[in-house]
Amino acid sequence: MAKPKVAFYWCASCGGCEEAVVDLAEDILKVVEAVDIVLWPVALDFKLKDVEAMADGEIAVSFINGAVRLSEQEEWVQLLRRKSGLVVAFGSCSHLGGIPGLANLTTIEEIMANKYDRAPTIDNPDGTRPLPRPVVDGYELELPTPWNTVKRLDEVIEVDYYLPGCAPPPELIMTAVQAILAGELPPKGSVISPEKTLCESCPLNESKPDELVITEFKRVATSQPKPDECYLAQGFVCMGPATRSGCGERCIHGNMPCRGCFGPPPGARDQGTKLLSAIASAGAAENKDEADLFAKGFVDPAGTLYRFSVPSSILKRTLKGK
Ligand code: SF4
Ligand code: SF4
Repeated sequence: MAKPKVAFYWCASCGGCEEAVVDLAEDILKVVEAVDIVLWPVALDFKLKDVEAMADGEIAVSFINGAVRLSEQEEWVQLLRRKSGLVVAFGSCSHLGGIPGLANLTTIEEIMANKYDRAPTIDNPDGTRPLPRPVVDGYELELPTPWNTVKRLDEVIEVDYYLPGCAPPPELIMTAVQAILAGELPPKGSVISPEKTLCESCPLNESKPDELVITEFKRVATSQPKPDECYLAQGFVCMGPATRSGCGERCIHGNMPCRGCFGPPPGARDQGTKLLSAIASAGAAENKDEADLFAKGFVDPAGTLYRFSVPSSILKRTLKGK
């Protein structure tokens, strides 16, 4: 019997999700035994024309990581959608917009200016920029066009399932692969991860007071959290109350507060405002001056509360770059 065909593709990503597949270690052999990998740009040399030549729906499942921010990525994911029975948004960037989605807090012009004019290592007196159609040695080339707004995968194509995490842990990847191969899938549109918050599975949960009181914010850049006490109760911004469980509490075990890569828990529309409301009600300010001082201690609120989720948040992007 022919094995099911599987594709891996990456859009705007750091490559960490590709590493996560390699991190399956010997389990990757079980995957390779059970499926035919027909596209995996980071590891195997398949071309666009190979995918175009396939029949619609021929690929059983495509795992697509990374946010979508280039014209080329839009073309690729639309092609993979046509050729695939199932599409899984793989990792935070594809699921929520992820770290590349922080670009929605500025504009593409600002990003280009920082990259090509302002960076201390740049010497570009003519203000040269990449051209969409440069002519090199008489040949016209076509470069992908960057968008002003970074998108989640499901803003561009229909997505069947979401595998969260930065990157998704190997155990969760295997759970998803085995469920797909066995045809034992949850309802379409599900996030393949437990239906609870990270706090509920956190080993520090017992030290989290029922009524949080935060007197001042601390940062891991300048002070070290005590490893045996709820980080939020110590004043470190921990996204646990506003984040879905399922990661194996990797950061907590590394003495780092959760940064929120698994996205909002079930029932929460917006991860940032969910944590903000928890923090605001825990602030120990007696008057406006104390409240102002408390708020000032929270460095980079948008980048912290929405580190992985600007494109899927109620902010979506700042107005200046509509
Ligand atoms: S706030 Fe953070 S440290 Fe505290 S219980 Fe929740 S996940 Fe654990
Ligand atoms: S603790 Fe938070 S940031 Fe760390 S892996 Fe888990 S969900 Fe992601």
